[in-house]
Amino acid sequence: MSASSTDATDFESVCSNCATLAVTFECNDGALDDTPVFCRNCGRLRGLIGAVRKMAHQPATPRSAGSRSPQYDPPLLL
Ligand SMILES: [Zn+2]
Repeated sequence: MSASSTDATDFESVCSNCATLAVTFECNDGALDDTPVFCRNCGRLRGLIGAVRKMAHQPATPRSAGSRSPQYDPPLLL
């Protein structure tokens, strides 16, 4: 394992050649991160499975923004 960053972060979610979202790759049980992913329409190399996995593991929204209302309401002091 090397500490240097790899080039596996480059993946085209939309094909720059034909603007297709669909991709295809060899779907083995233990597909390696360096398995190439191709455009399903035109066959252009879109990136590596490792890059797709990295994108999928990035959280879309933080979870800590759900509960902002206080659980305890202090009584009104009149
Ligand atoms: Zn394409």
